[in-house]
Amino acid sequence: MKSTLAGFGGLFFLPQLDIKQDVRVVEAKGKERKMIYRTLGKTGLKLPVINMGVMLTDNPNIIRAALDSGILLLDTAHGYMQGRNEQTIGEVIKGRPRHSYYIATKINLPQNRATGLYQEGATTEEFLKRLDISLKRLGIDYVDILYQHGGSRKESVMYEPILKAFEQARKDGKIRFSGVSTHSNEPEVIDAVTDSKLHDVILTAYTFKQKHYQDVRKAIARASQTGIGIVGMKAVRGLNQQPPTVKNIPASFKWMLQDPNVHTVIAGFTAFEHIETDLSIMDDLTLTEPEKIELQKEASIRGLYCQGCRQCLGQCLEKLPIPDLMRAYMYTYDYRSVAHAQDLIASLDLSNRVCEDCSYCPVKCSIGFNVSKKVRDVARLKEVPPEFLG
Ligand code: SF4
Ligand code: SF4
Repeated sequence: MKSTLAGFGGLFFLPQLDIKQDVRVVEAKGKERKMIYRTLGKTGLKLPVINMGVMLTDNPNIIRAALDSGILLLDTAHGYMQGRNEQTIGEVIKGRPRHSYYIATKINLPQNRATGLYQEGATTEEFLKRLDISLKRLGIDYVDILYQHGGSRKESVMYEPILKAFEQARKDGKIRFSGVSTHSNEPEVIDAVTDSKLHDVILTAYTFKQKHYQDVRKAIARASQTGIGIVGMKAVRGLNQQPPTVKNIPASFKWMLQDPNVHTVIAGFTAFEHIETDLSIMDDLTLTEPEKIELQKEASIRGLYCQGCRQCLGQCLEKLPIPDLMRAYMYTYDYRSVAHAQDLIASLDLSNRVCEDCSYCPVKCSIGFNVSKKVRDVARLKEVPPEFLG
């Protein structure tokens, strides 16, 4: 992956472009709200530029409030909260007209986290079995978008058993559109999806905190030109605030949406006031001067954001999946979502003596994280009974 330092001039902020989008005033929860819609590539779905990533909440009332406020797309995953996330969405959408919302979910299969390649058990049958479980939890016959969860290599995008599963699921009418989600090595994954010509949507991490944001931007532009819909995520990933302030969250979304090739972003509301704050950016998507200064300042701080560059992977003596562990660290100390971090840790199949058998740590992180210290810290979650985490 090529890396480009987050520069403060030129392309860090894009010139104001004439972006293809519709502006409508809609009535939501008894009041009028300005909403901006972009079309999700060839899917033709017209979505508000802010939608909901449900990952961080299992409070049905927050999801309900998001839909009632004009949000159309709910993004979840088979593995979130060990299935509770999809179940909660199922509870919320029950009784609502099927055309009044869109559901995106993601399915992962056993993967060697250190290499990013699929391993034993990663079969077409298992993928389809997990899809059926997800549909049952959601209480619907089909999902609007089904993603292959967390691609980090070109080879994983082209993994035959999953491609076959997508084909079958389409034939069976269980998915409308297919895609790949990525939060590591994104440019390679996005290019592979574009070249494959097999998918409709890409869900990608894209943030001003990425050292390689220009590479992501380039890959997104190429994908979008071929008609692939682009959904952005992790806009506020790794911000230095604990928790991030409402001041810089809207600016982070606007930063992503200044790119005409991003059709919508998903926001992880965990409180009712987040919905209001995040939707209000549609009053004016232009970054104000104070917001620009705030973003520039934030971009220069390392924070907790692992760049997913994978440089550390070949260096670890125990071949630990370090980028995943750094993500769990960020979920714990930045998102303050310890349960989510624990889910991730549980999926990594770690030994009970993480980092304890090395007399020294040769891992040099490209952005200077003290990797072994962070790994030891977050790996402790493996031992905590989930009921302690609420
Ligand atoms: S101390 Fe931990 S991170 Fe460093 S090489 Fe050993 S197992 Fe890997
Ligand atoms: S821990 Fe450091 S070296 Fe490893 S993927 Fe993250 S940023 Fe890159």
